[in-house]
Amino acid sequence: MIFPDMTSTAPLKSQLVDQFARGISYLRLSVTDRCDLRCAYCMPEKMTFLPRKDVLSLEELHDMALGFIARGITKIRLTGGEPLVRRDMMELVTALGRKLGDGLEELTMTTNATRLAEFAEGIAAAGIRRINVSLDTLDREKFTRLARRDSLPQVLEGIAAAKAAGLAVKINTVALKGINEDEIPDLIAWAHGQHFDITLIEVMPLGDVEEDRFDHYLPLGAVQERLENQWTLTPSDHRTGGPARYFNVVGSTGRETGGRLGLITPLTNNFCEGCNRIRVTATGQLFACLGGNEQVDLRAAMRSDDPEKALDEGLDIAMKIKPARHHFAIDERGQSPALARHMSMTGG
Ligand code: SAM
Ligand code: SF4
Repeated sequence: MIFPDMTSTAPLKSQLVDQFARGISYLRLSVTDRCDLRCAYCMPEKMTFLPRKDVLSLEELHDMALGFIARGITKIRLTGGEPLVRRDMMELVTALGRKLGDGLEELTMTTNATRLAEFAEGIAAAGIRRINVSLDTLDREKFTRLARRDSLPQVLEGIAAAKAAGLAVKINTVALKGINEDEIPDLIAWAHGQHFDITLIEVMPLGDVEEDRFDHYLPLGAVQERLENQWTLTPSDHRTGGPARYFNVVGSTGRETGGRLGLITPLTNNFCEGCNRIRVTATGQLFACLGGNEQVDLRAAMRSDDPEKALDEGLDIAMKIKPARHHFAIDERGQSPALARHMSMTGG
């Protein structure tokens, strides 16, 4: 273990509150831009990954996370790229797990699950209770076309291992017109049958991915209408601190399918008012908004002579520049400019 065994935290510094009086308590931390899949909506087949020297070291990620916790961040989601392809990932998970109950309330992860079978037990042992797994189809051929890798068996094995390790699994599914739209009810029934929640996500215009994104954009309003022919969707009070609206799914016999359905609709429904989050890329760029370009270079801060002070100053700047709302849009001809960076850079 490279990190000292820290058992106490420095006194809490001033909390992060942005110019619109939104308290910021949730950090999404991308630990790598690399991935073992190539989901067609996320990145091109010939993705150019960042030089390793540009990516934060394990110590930098760890110290930066502690700096965020000292400023009142209580929830950290580790993401990527694929977090579990980073070689030293479990060291970071274990070290941050030690901060649970000591400033940090929740540590979570978003993964494609290809390597989850190997790591699920360690993840649970580190104190992670919930993970999000991205899964857009249960059809092996379709998975291979969409993710450009034949990895569905490993993914399902990973999900089973997570369940066996006692992790609460939430499935995230990007709704894609002409690709998985007909399969969405089956995916929901499967997830609920496994006692997993499932959230549907609208595809967002992030980065060049070789395909006309508008071709596959599927507004969730239409999906919801179709689902309501089959089930009764009752709005739920459930909240996870994220932008999803939740529904309880009740079948025609009155029996619930057993789980919740979340809908994340960044394009058709603005969720910015209650935003409590910031994101940091694997190179230490803090993005104040997933859908904007307002950023602060925290790598420079972490590599400066006084990282602690520079990080605090960077966070103060972030609070001043966080925009009121995102600027995503896909117009009818799909002509709105996509943000240049991929989701694998900012983390989902
Ligand atoms: N590799 C991990 C995974 O797939 O779960 C973590 C990173 S991935 C970038 C996080 C989430 O972003 C995934 O659920 C993925 O489906 C979603 N995502 C990627 N590109 C997207 C896009 N353009 N629009 C909407 N969601 C996207
Ligand atoms: Fe990789 Fe996740 Fe992007 Fe798919 S969505 S290519 S698994 S980073």
